[in-house]
Amino acid sequence: MDIKTGFFNVLILGAALLAATILAFGFSQYAFFEDTSYSERLDKISNEGMQLVQLTNEVLLYGEPRALDQWQQQYRDVGLLIDDNSLPSKPELQEILGPLRIRYAHLLPLQEKLTQSRDRNADSQVVDIIASQLYQDSTQLQASLRSLKSAADESFKSAYETVKHRQVIIFSLFTGLVSVYGVFVSLLFRRTILAPLYDLRQTIHSLRDGQAAKAPVHDDDEIGAVCVTFNHLLDEQETARKQVQSISERFRNIFEQAAVGMSIVSPNGDWLEVNQCLCDILGYERSEFLAANYQAFTLPENLQTDILRVKDILSGKKVYDSWETRYRRKDGRPIWARITTALARDGADSPLYFVTVTEDITERKEADARLLEINRQLEEQTTELKRTNADLESFAWVASHDLREPLRMVSSYVGLIKKRLGPELDEDMAQYIGYAVEGSKRMDALILGLLDYARIGRRGGTFESVSLADVAQESLLNLSVSIQEEGACVTLQEGLPKVIGDRSELVRLFQNLIGNAIKFHHPDRAPEVSVAFEDKGSEWVLRFSDNGIGIDPDYYEKVFRIFQRLVRKDQYAGTGIGLSICRKIVEHHGGRIWVLSEPGEGSTFFVAFPK
Ligand code: ADP
Repeated sequence: MDIKTGFFNVLILGAALLAATILAFGFSQYAFFEDTSYSERLDKISNEGMQLVQLTNEVLLYGEPRALDQWQQQYRDVGLLIDDNSLPSKPELQEILGPLRIRYAHLLPLQEKLTQSRDRNADSQVVDIIASQLYQDSTQLQASLRSLKSAADESFKSAYETVKHRQVIIFSLFTGLVSVYGVFVSLLFRRTILAPLYDLRQTIHSLRDGQAAKAPVHDDDEIGAVCVTFNHLLDEQETARKQVQSISERFRNIFEQAAVGMSIVSPNGDWLEVNQCLCDILGYERSEFLAANYQAFTLPENLQTDILRVKDILSGKKVYDSWETRYRRKDGRPIWARITTALARDGADSPLYFVTVTEDITERKEADARLLEINRQLEEQTTELKRTNADLESFAWVASHDLREPLRMVSSYVGLIKKRLGPELDEDMAQYIGYAVEGSKRMDALILGLLDYARIGRRGGTFESVSLADVAQESLLNLSVSIQEEGACVTLQEGLPKVIGDRSELVRLFQNLIGNAIKFHHPDRAPEVSVAFEDKGSEWVLRFSDNGIGIDPDYYEKVFRIFQRLVRKDQYAGTGIGLSICRKIVEHHGGRIWVLSEPGEGSTFFVAFPK
């Protein structure tokens, strides 16, 4: 039950108590009035009766007519009073009223008798006898009336005593009940209001002293509801406190265990908090940091830049900034550090503190310096290499070009010797001359091959978008004779892609690879060659596959070197330059070339072009 209803009920109880008391008091008063009215009536009978006695005694005895009328009137009045049926039928009253009525009744005949006697002027002796009887009766009536009077007095006294007694009882009862009511109200007040409020206050004191506490809920009334809400707020506060605690612990852990130096710095540069990593980076104890300003650790030549950057952030030009600076460690060694700092501000936008991350980048800076040095050296070497390459290429070009002239001379003079000797030429000589011609032809082929090799990338042809399908067709046209001779079957995958490159070099590449695939065919089977491609994202990979003699895996790399052959020249003609030219062309296009093979089964040459 809520307090309001409780106290309302108590109020109704109090009102009922008061009403009962008033009723009891009223009833007692009513009874008193009842009793006193009865006494008053008796008293009245007595008084009226006494007047009748007096009239009888004083007036009737002398027989005055006016007095007689008065007596008769009084007699009737008294008669009415004593015949009152509403008088209580108490025996003690009847004991008085019975004789009183008899004596009253005697009066009238005697009075009439006396009056008649006087009217007839009867013997005075007779009149006296009647008068004395009347007197006697009236005296007896008087005695009865006195008894009645004292009965009335007695009744009044008893009624008064009774009412007094009742009032005392009612008053005592009322006082008692009021006391009980007061105690009850006090207890109720204490139980429903004071005790819960006291407990609530105790709870608040305990909380203020830092102890965990809950407000006891006594009842489901208004204060109970307040306590429940208060406890609910405490629970919420506790949950929020735990969340804040866990977040701050997490942040503290992140701050402490970060793999970079972290610090909190006041707007004027004093270290407020530093983590272990920063201590390790600079070699100072935490206490040494907290007693210093960041400027104390910065190298003088970097200080000005640092101050300007910090000023920019403080003035609001930047929210945060990141730059490289140099510190001096406690052991005197200078280090490079990358600073990233942001400024925390309060609600009024005033600066609170900087949150700064410090990374030791000394190693990276040193590595950068080393890398720069290596790059510089590399550039020097590349320039030197380019120059040497160019020298070599022009040397090969000039040498091979100039070599052909004496070679032509040798072969033409050997031809002339053969012609001059004519029929004198014996078999041996003819064979020797044949060797010489063959050797010079071969040398010419070698020189031509060298010339081709040297030409790659020298002609200065511009790169353009070239369709490899067209390139393949052109190379097949160039190879049509050998294709026919060998009965080769060459298949091209549809949709060969376009690449950026030198068309004539690409034709050369296809021609060499398809030509080799036909040339190095297996003696037992006709050559079958296929050209296919694959999209590998950033590059096109072409596959030149054949069913020829194959290549031993030990020679996968060697076949691309100049003048390297795996076959005898009497078996397969060639100079050993073709694949080295292929590699040079592919590399000139920024690509790669390699081979995989199953000896005796066939080979696949792969060429990757960047897209
Ligand atoms: P050449 O063809 O003049 O001999 P290359 O440089 O073109 O010179 O080839 C080098 C060597 O690689 C060849 O002599 C041969 O032994 C081997 N070779 C090249 N292509 C193939 C192939 N398709 N199948 C088997 N062997 C090959």
